[in-house]
Amino acid sequence: MSVPTPSRPVALVTGGSRGIGRAVVNRLAEEGYDIAFVYRANSDAARAVLDEVGDKGVSVVCRKLDVTDFEQVQEFVRHVEQTVGPITTVVNSAGIVKDSPLALMDNQDWHDVIQVNLTGLYNISRSVIRGFMRRRSGSLVTVSSVVGVYGNFAQTNYAASKAGMIGFTKSFAKEIGRYGARANVVAPGLIETDMSSALSAEHTENILSGVTLGRPGTAEEVAELVAFLASDRSSYITGQVFQIDGGATL
Ligand code: NAD
Repeated sequence: MSVPTPSRPVALVTGGSRGIGRAVVNRLAEEGYDIAFVYRANSDAARAVLDEVGDKGVSVVCRKLDVTDFEQVQEFVRHVEQTVGPITTVVNSAGIVKDSPLALMDNQDWHDVIQVNLTGLYNISRSVIRGFMRRRSGSLVTVSSVVGVYGNFAQTNYAASKAGMIGFTKSFAKEIGRYGARANVVAPGLIETDMSSALSAEHTENILSGVTLGRPGTAEEVAELVAFLASDRSSYITGQVFQIDGGATL
């Protein structure tokens, strides 16, 4: 099958059906990227995103798949490159939490969080890196968390996965730099999404009391930073971690 000549950059976004991923999909579509996104479960939410993006006049494909499954990820990457065009940008936003103090942690909850957050990043990155090398361009943006930098109570699994994502992305940046491609990390604090709405009101209040700007961030504010790092506007920035937390870690 022949590969179409790309007329637009192509972004692959994991976790594109909800929250930060959904905002990134919309932001990049507004900037003229063709879009491919993957999600885990909610097909109605994914359909809503397809409609939103379709209205922006760019191509969009999506697939319900599990980022922990290397074969599925690799096959989707192949499909996108054959039907939409070479992937120029990858945004890894798929993620889960399964919080518990370590003394009470279920082994499966440790395993699941590491698999989705960290092995998912490996699976996507491993599937696109050769294309980045061959084409001597590309940008990877990893959505980690301030928890990956500072740690957090009852989040050893999540913190380990998010810190691992930072180490992975910096190493990816070092490997890919000589090919003219880049990789950076955004590390959000509390952002209003389905994930954070699962926190109790008391827990949310507690977090907000330490946020300098006194409010949670929005997915759109994170998407703005991601779009900058994805684009040539950040052409001399690689291997960096950008905290977007309203001053929570000042
Ligand atoms: P969300 O729960 O609203 O969305 C998560 C997305 O990931 C969904 O689209 C879901 O389908 C997808 N996903 C989950 N498991 C998957 C799997 N196995 N395979 C494929 N897709 C899968 O979450 P969000 O708040 O938008 O978070 C997005 C990212 O930002 C996550 O990595 C999260 O850790 C990180 N983050 C969020 C916050 C916050 O306060 N919301 C703060 C810091 C970091």
